[in-house]
Amino acid sequence: MEHKENQKKTICDFTLDQLVSELEQKNIPGFRAKQIFNWVYDKGVTEFNQMTNLSQQLQFQLAESYQIMPIAISKKQTSSDGTTKLLYKLNDDEAVESVLMTYGDLSNPERITVCVSTQVGCGMGCSFCATGLGGYKRNLSEGEILGQILGFQQALKEIDNSFRVSNVVYMGMGEPLLNYDNVVKSIRMLNAKEIFNISYRRITVSTCGLVPQIRSLAHEDLPIVLAISLHATTDSLRNQLMPINKKYPLDQLIEACRYYFNQTGRKLTFEYIMLDNINDYYADAERLALLTKGFSVNVNLIPFNQVNESGFKRSDRNRVNKFAGYLKQQGVETVIREEKGGDILAACGQLRQAQQYNRGDI
Ligand code: SAH
Ligand code: SF4
Repeated sequence: MEHKENQKKTICDFTLDQLVSELEQKNIPGFRAKQIFNWVYDKGVTEFNQMTNLSQQLQFQLAESYQIMPIAISKKQTSSDGTTKLLYKLNDDEAVESVLMTYGDLSNPERITVCVSTQVGCGMGCSFCATGLGGYKRNLSEGEILGQILGFQQALKEIDNSFRVSNVVYMGMGEPLLNYDNVVKSIRMLNAKEIFNISYRRITVSTCGLVPQIRSLAHEDLPIVLAISLHATTDSLRNQLMPINKKYPLDQLIEACRYYFNQTGRKLTFEYIMLDNINDYYADAERLALLTKGFSVNVNLIPFNQVNESGFKRSDRNRVNKFAGYLKQQGVETVIREEKGGDILAACGQLRQAQQYNRGDI
């Protein structure tokens, strides 16, 4: 049975045009594709036999050859601040985590943001990040990325039928730009009217700083938000924190950011984790302000979330406020990221390969 599920194609992997031609090859009229998409993405149904405008025979035929999502929810945790973390089991028994955050009034949220994973694990080895500790396993398909949002969308429907995921951040497990093609496809599908219909401007991709991919992304005609995990203002510190810096040092990274800005006109985000006594000095703030010159940047200061193995501590709030104050005084747009989901290990950098601590649950 399990084996058979694995052979099935996944609806979440298709664009509408692709599903139309796929069905036509099986002599199923193309308009059925639109009906199926409507059931899946708008009504949030999870089984073909719930698609009541399809004949029973067609429902059966579809269920024989297709699955709707390539992933299944295997665990759900909810934080006291309303943040929800889902553990998804993939068809090959790997697992990834995704997080849903609501902003504003919980009964009528202004924003409902899903943080998606793009890889099982991550090979980039940043020293402050829990995901990096387990190493890299594999890339996720576009369907496995979209499925994470669909799972939340289905859960939201149960709370209130009008709730919709409004924003997506590619900030879960993995390095999105090392899974470039599937990530770009998934972004286009998120935006497609008949799929999630989410505006590009409400989609953020975060990268540790892969220079060639940043340059390629500048030509994809995707008006999304590109966020760069900067975290240090000198090569010597960045080399220690983020090994990728040895391959693409700061001057190349900043040049690529400038290129991205010039090509797209889109403001970038610099993410900067505040690490006690490591990168939270006045001199760091000065250098950071200089690095933002010549293009448009929003600096996001991130309180460090505890990862025991890392040995780092978060900077105290006073210091973070002063750091932010200096940047603002220099005319640099700066925000301190709101913390969400720390009590369920759902905050930035705390997602892990579930097998390591959760084998019994899968
Ligand atoms: N691989 C991508 C996206 C996933 S990480 C990247 O590195 O950008 C998402 C964000 O969480 C990144 O900015 C990352 O640096 C940050 N992060 C990682 N570990 C963290 C931690 N322990 N505390 C706070 N933020 C962390
Ligand atoms: Fe990978 Fe991003 Fe974590 Fe670095 S911070 S190890 S790139 S997930």
